[in-house]
Amino acid sequence: MDSNNEMDMTVPPDKEMSFLESVNLTFDMALTTLDIPEGMGQYIKNVNNVYQVRFPVKINGVVETFIGWRAVHSDHRLPAKGGIRFSQMVNQDEVEALAALMSYKCALVDIPFGGSKGGLLIDPKQYERESMEKITRRFAFELIQKDYIGSGINVPAPDMGTGQREMSWIASTYMAHRPNDINHLACVTGKPVSAGGIQGRVEATGRGVVFGIREFFRYPEDVKLAKMEGNSIEGKEVIIQGLGNVGYYTAKILDEEDGAKITGILEWDGAVYDKNGLNVEEVFQYKIENGGGIKGYPKGKFTENSAELLEEECDILIPAAIEGVINQSNAGRIRAKLIAEAANGPVTFKAETILNEMGVVIIPDVYLNAGGVTVSYFEWIKNLSHIRFGRMNKRYEENQNNLLIKAIEQSGTKVPQELIAQIGQGPAEIDLVRSGLDDTMRIAFQGIRERFWSNEKVGSYRIAAMAISIEKIYNSYRLMGIYP
Ligand code: GLU
Repeated sequence: MDSNNEMDMTVPPDKEMSFLESVNLTFDMALTTLDIPEGMGQYIKNVNNVYQVRFPVKINGVVETFIGWRAVHSDHRLPAKGGIRFSQMVNQDEVEALAALMSYKCALVDIPFGGSKGGLLIDPKQYERESMEKITRRFAFELIQKDYIGSGINVPAPDMGTGQREMSWIASTYMAHRPNDINHLACVTGKPVSAGGIQGRVEATGRGVVFGIREFFRYPEDVKLAKMEGNSIEGKEVIIQGLGNVGYYTAKILDEEDGAKITGILEWDGAVYDKNGLNVEEVFQYKIENGGGIKGYPKGKFTENSAELLEEECDILIPAAIEGVINQSNAGRIRAKLIAEAANGPVTFKAETILNEMGVVIIPDVYLNAGGVTVSYFEWIKNLSHIRFGRMNKRYEENQNNLLIKAIEQSGTKVPQELIAQIGQGPAEIDLVRSGLDDTMRIAFQGIRERFWSNEKVGSYRIAAMAISIEKIYNSYRLMGIYP
């Protein structure tokens, strides 16, 4: 699988109930903590519209028919936003559940978008690059025709099985069909920087996950709740499931910047474990050089059945692949203190009930993986304003900072050289993106924990996060006059 893909897949989802049912049950629980008219709650919960399309593409002289979906869960804010997934397990239920999560995610972190998601039923590994381009462009065309793509209506992004390459094909298809749209680049996010993308989008979801975990560790009360000590990630044992784009950056940043010990890495073809910590970059390079798998990685202990490692003892378990991997069949055996959901929907509704009783704390997907869409928002703004961040102010700020250093030195204090190098620089696009992302993740977690600790009816971070999202969506519909 392309290492640029937003998410990777390892263990198939559990079939105890559908993904959408699981998301909706959480919604219902959150709704009971709010004072919102029942009818409005039902309206917010359900998907507004979904488009299903079948289209033919000639591959090596043979016509193949493909099936895809784009669901809009909520358009209380426009455009509706969310990734496009290419996978063999895509179906309408999954796309609708993911679209709903997008609405809640955007509302929670104050990104002014509605929620949407797309999916194409395909195994991208089975097709050559040229065929993938044909299929992607044709799918994009079908969505453009029905107004399911456009900078002001609906803006796709990468998800499982898609990455910069596909986003660039979508943007170019859109441009070919809407040549008069001056904002054509804003029709999709997650593009390569050279094709209108933004610095820091590829790492965004993973970096957002790390910012979220860092914020959690700033609150001793919360750390204690997860039966841990200290106020930092340093030395914490982490097991990560899925070394796709999200898992890779999460693990790499935790390892290299936060001093965490990545003791386990799970992939579709097995898992490696080393109590002393694995070198994430090394495992990742091995994966790239060995057809996308980690089987045969020479260090640590290898287990063929990767799901077993989900049950290994650790401080933080990070599922970063697909929905439903922690379900009622394995939840009771989880030995992690904290589950940090980097993927969408990795813990099922039933599993969460079991884990709550066991005292395992969960930082929910709806919050924790919002980094991707947050930086997508920055990219969209960059495209609409037709200028990169930092272009106007970088040098100005640099000059001002240097003047300040000069003034300090003239007053007789010598500023150390390493500080001059740091202070003397104006912000580049990547600095601003990371700063905006950090701020977004911090503020959102503060809201969640406040709701969690202040309202007895709110039994988990997930319910707190959902309640905040529902309230925000409800308020924007109400202000628009849509009220039963
Ligand atoms: N696919 C990502 C998600 O599930 C990103 C969506 C976006 O950037 O619009 O959040």
